[in-house]
Amino acid sequence: MQTKRIELSGWGRFPSTRQEVARPERYAGLRPAGNMFNLGRGMGRSYGDAALCNDGVVILTERVNRLLDFDAETGLLHAEAGVTLEDILRVFLPRGWFLPVTPGTRYVTLGGCLASDVHGKNHHHAGSFSNHVEAFELLTTTGERLHVTPENNPEAFWATAGGMGLTGMIGEIWLKLQRIESAWMQVRHYTGENLDALFGLMADDTLDDDYSVAWIDCLARGDQMGRGVLMTAHHAAAWSLDKKHKPFAQPGRVQRALPFDLPGGLLNRLSVSAFNAIYYRRQARRDEYHDHLLHYFYPLDSIGHWNRMYGRRGFIQHQCVIPEDNALDGIKALLSVLQHYGLASFLAVLKRFGAGGSGHLSFPMPGYTLAVDLPISGDAACRVAADLNAVVLEHGGRVYLAKDACLAPDEFRAMYPRYPEWLDIKRQLDPDGYMRSDLGVRLRIGEP
Ligand SMILES: Cc1cc2nc3c(=O)[nH]c(=O)nc-3n(C[C@H](O)[C@H](O)[C@H](O)COP(=O)(O)OP(=O)(O)OC[C@H]3O[C@@H](n4cnc5c(N)ncnc54)[C@H](O)[C@@H]3O)c2cc1C
Repeated sequence: MQTKRIELSGWGRFPSTRQEVARPERYAGLRPAGNMFNLGRGMGRSYGDAALCNDGVVILTERVNRLLDFDAETGLLHAEAGVTLEDILRVFLPRGWFLPVTPGTRYVTLGGCLASDVHGKNHHHAGSFSNHVEAFELLTTTGERLHVTPENNPEAFWATAGGMGLTGMIGEIWLKLQRIESAWMQVRHYTGENLDALFGLMADDTLDDDYSVAWIDCLARGDQMGRGVLMTAHHAAAWSLDKKHKPFAQPGRVQRALPFDLPGGLLNRLSVSAFNAIYYRRQARRDEYHDHLLHYFYPLDSIGHWNRMYGRRGFIQHQCVIPEDNALDGIKALLSVLQHYGLASFLAVLKRFGAGGSGHLSFPMPGYTLAVDLPISGDAACRVAADLNAVVLEHGGRVYLAKDACLAPDEFRAMYPRYPEWLDIKRQLDPDGYMRSDLGVRLRIGEP
């Protein structure tokens, strides 16, 4: 295997270290070695150290990205793991097909989505990514090439979905796409003047729609604490569009990129507070409108390298889920921690999850998930994350591994109670523990 050493990090740019990488051109090159540490990596859109392997080789999947087959009757797509959601949308969106579940960026691979078992704004109806995967091929460190389905090998299937790349390399995936009539979303906004009101809106079944997410002004205090806007949507039917919305038109705006790191301090409490107040008023005014699907699902993708916004030393995105019964108290406590530190997050997103999935280490569970950027760098962000993690644990919740860079081994074990079951399967698939990541080393994954 030809390798070279490069500086590598996750999307949050913390931690960032020099790593040995291999970039296979063909499927055969994805096979992990059985005599050294290996880890698969897609687009590196996980935030922390999940796609890093300091003492082994990171196998980049970006060139193993062929679309292999598509059944236009059933929507079943067969593709290599390095295919991105962007690749799929480019080919299939104009033909009336969309992803069954998508994260908030399309610059992620199928392999990365399955390994993190990603969720979207439709989790309460559609579950997570793995619920729409019919099969995948798993290449193990023992040299096996397993065709895995939930029926023929449920252990390998559910240990790999959400298993953060630690069971083997995911080679090919069979994913069921969904039919849509247009590339437009019918969106509605509802304003909640504080967190209690926002929770009331989110729990109101009469307002429910296929997709739903809320933005919170995490700097609002007092009786406005947790004020926000609930945004619900569904795919617009072709008949509902007026003349200016052609069913499969391309979105209007060109992509812009942040050309360099913004100097620290530019995003301070005042500037974010002003932004939040304006954004709140603007979104609160909007009622019902059509939005292009690429704008609706991927608002940040139109600013290339937006992760430079937080400066050279990087940032952390903290995402947790709190079970339904404790959610209101838990989210209030999390906002209080952020306010205690005077932290101004642009992004504070609240979403209600539906039933949890079957993946042993999958993140979603029934309850409410909050994602916030911690706009301070590295270890300082970890100190704040430690306080947030304590609140999450106290309320029976868990932190999303695809975004984590700070969790401790005992916290991980308390948050993911099915870890011992997962470890048994990992030991069967990878007996010598050669699939390894920096996240895994930090959380002592592989040890009881
Ligand atoms: C702007 C933005 C918005 C996001 N929104 C959401 C969201 O709404 N919901 C959500 O769930 N997540 C979200 N994420 C997180 C992102 O979807 C996940 O981190 C996803 O896993 C990244 O995919 P990737 O291809 O970049 O994988 P990487 O970051 O490269 O890798 C992620 C994990 O997958 C493993 N992996 C990758 N490829 C393979 C393979 N072929 N075989 C085995 N293991 C592999 C890696 O080892 C690693 O553990 C968001 C991220 C960003 C930057």
